[in-house]
Amino acid sequence: MEIKITKTACPKEKPDSSTLGFGKIFTDHMFIMDYSRELGWHDARIVPFENLSIHPASTVLHYGSEIFEGLKAYRRADGKVQLFRPMENIRRMNTSADRLCLPQIPEDIAFEMLTAFVACEKDWTPSAPGTSLYLRPFMFGNDETLGVHAVNNARFMIIASPVGSYYKEGINPVKIMIEDEDVRAVRGGTGYAKCGGNYAASNRAGERAEEKGYSQVLWLDGVERKYIEEVGAMNVMFKIGDEIVTPKLTGSILPGITRKSCIEMLIKEGYKVSERLLSVDELSAAMRDGSLVEAWGCGTAAVVSPIGELCYKDHKYTVNEGKIGAVTQHLYDTLTGIQWGKTEDTFGWTYVID
Ligand SMILES: *Cc1c(COP(=O)(O)O)cnc(C)c1O
Repeated sequence: MEIKITKTACPKEKPDSSTLGFGKIFTDHMFIMDYSRELGWHDARIVPFENLSIHPASTVLHYGSEIFEGLKAYRRADGKVQLFRPMENIRRMNTSADRLCLPQIPEDIAFEMLTAFVACEKDWTPSAPGTSLYLRPFMFGNDETLGVHAVNNARFMIIASPVGSYYKEGINPVKIMIEDEDVRAVRGGTGYAKCGGNYAASNRAGERAEEKGYSQVLWLDGVERKYIEEVGAMNVMFKIGDEIVTPKLTGSILPGITRKSCIEMLIKEGYKVSERLLSVDELSAAMRDGSLVEAWGCGTAAVVSPIGELCYKDHKYTVNEGKIGAVTQHLYDTLTGIQWGKTEDTFGWTYVID
C-alpha cells in the first residue's frame, strides 16, 4: 500500500536525553490511515505531528471504541535502530480490534506501516543508556453519529515519543497493594484486549493505592476476587520454591509480550515455569512460610520491575528483604541485552530498521 509522506517544514530540536520522561515529547511526524466499510483501509500517510480535528459525535468520544499498542525502538551500539518482536504487537492489536468491533489490519500491511513510520522517525531514537523511542499505535471508531453499533469508520495512527530510562536511580523494588474491592476485568469482558476503557476503569484503585504509599495494585479475578491476575499495567510472576508461577491467560489478563518472552527464555534455560491459577490464599501462605522468594512485574515500559512489598488486607509482607532477586535481575539483564543489541539474539526477536 502506498504511504504518502509530507515532511514537516519546521523540524523540532531533539531533546537532551537527561530531560526525557515518559510520553511527554513527541517526534516531528505521525502516521494516519483511515478505514470505511466501503473503501476498507485507505489514505495511508505520514504527516507533520499536529492536533486532530474530529467530529464531536465521533464514536470514540462517547462509546470508548479505542485500542492501542506499546512497543519501543532501541538504539544499538553500532547506531542501528531495532524493534523487539513487532509482529507480536500487530497480532495482539488485531485480537483487541476483534473484541472491540474495530476493523482488522492485515499483518503485512500493519508491519509495512509501522516500519515505514519508524524509518521516518528513527533519528529521534535516543542513545543514552536505558532510553528508547516509544511507539504508540492506536485505533479508534470514528463514525459521525450517536447511534450505537459496530464501527463503520475508523482511524489507525502511530505516534512516537523519545522516553527516558525507567530506572534512573537503579532498579528499586516497588510496593504493591493487592486490591480486593475494584476489579479490572472479567472473563468475557475486555481484559485480554489492550483498550483504553480498561485503564479508565483501573484508575480509581490505582489512585487509592498511591494515597497509601503503594506504586500500583495487584488485581484479583473479577468473579471471586480469589485468583491473582496482574499488576497495574504489567503481568506478574512469582518464584515460589523452585517454581516460577505466572497466572494463566484466562481471558481477563492482558497477554503481555514481555511475559511471553520471560516464559520462553526461562523454559529454554531449564527453569520450571507454570502458567496456572494462583490464589491469593496460596500466595499469602507462601509469603508467611518464606517459600515466596521473588516477585516481579513485567511489561514493555519497565522490562521487569521487582516487587519488594505486598500488602493484602492490611497485612504487609516483605519479599526477598525488599531487594531485587537473582531471577528478576537475570531476566532484566538478558532481555535488555537483546533489546539494545548488547546480547546475541538467539531467539530471532529483533528486527533492524534500515
Ligand atoms: C500492555 C500491558 C501489559 C504488558 O504487555 P507488554 O506486551 O509486555 O508490554 C500488561 N498488562 C496490561 C494491562 C497492559 O496494558
